[in-house]
Amino acid sequence: MRDLRNIYIDKPDLEKRGKEFNEKYKKERINKAAYDIIRAKGNSNSWGEFKSDFTLYTENRCPVCEERINQYDDIEHYRPKKDYWWLAYDFYNYYNCCDLCNTTYKKNFFPLFDESKKVDFATKDKISDEQPLLFNPLKDDPLELFYLEFFMSSSDGSFPSVRYIPNINLDRTSYKYAKALKTIELFNLNNENPKNDPARRSTLNDLSIAIKHFRKIVRSWRSEPDLVKRAEQGKIIKEFRDKSGLFLCQFVIKGLYIDLTKSI
Ligand SMILES: [Zn+2]
Repeated sequence: MRDLRNIYIDKPDLEKRGKEFNEKYKKERINKAAYDIIRAKGNSNSWGEFKSDFTLYTENRCPVCEERINQYDDIEHYRPKKDYWWLAYDFYNYYNCCDLCNTTYKKNFFPLFDESKKVDFATKDKISDEQPLLFNPLKDDPLELFYLEFFMSSSDGSFPSVRYIPNINLDRTSYKYAKALKTIELFNLNNENPKNDPARRSTLNDLSIAIKHFRKIVRSWRSEPDLVKRAEQGKIIKEFRDKSGLFLCQFVIKGLYIDLTKSI
């Protein structure tokens, strides 16, 4: 999981270009006939110009499943362009995504907590009443929605792995709990889909290896008496944390994390 809530603040140039993009396609965002014309022309890849910006920001990881991606992977429309046509050319509806999340699993699904609160497609009214059940890296805090649970995937315990679960502090009847659960299920994040998915399995393995490594360097940092060496190790931890994303590292050291980042 990656947190993209600050991407427009951290990359003001990206937002500037996004606003220009929205201005350029203003007609296509308002008028269905104009949208149909541009779609018929096959001008559907204009949003591709933002791919590399997003991918750089997430350290070449899919913000939903952590699979490795590059600038040739997809730009995801959070609200699918098939139904929400006026958001097809809306910069604020985009983030980077792996092909598996976008094409294999999400497709055009866009489930809501209360389907009776779906936007009126004719008037586009009340879209803010919708409570989407899919994690939106641009708006949602992954730490608020999800937890990583460790388990042993081999009998001798030599191969610990991880699985996503909804944040254990969430009320099971809440919208956020339902959102976390549906995201895990729809994107097959734990590879529990009846169709075993090698790519998903590989991403989960990578995740568990990264967590094991992070845990090891944190333990070493904690027990290092030499202050100079400790400072050097602190730098490595910080670097790893920045590259791996806060979400992943949070689960390695839980409460200690706050103290640790203050100390580095
Ligand atoms: Zn993905």
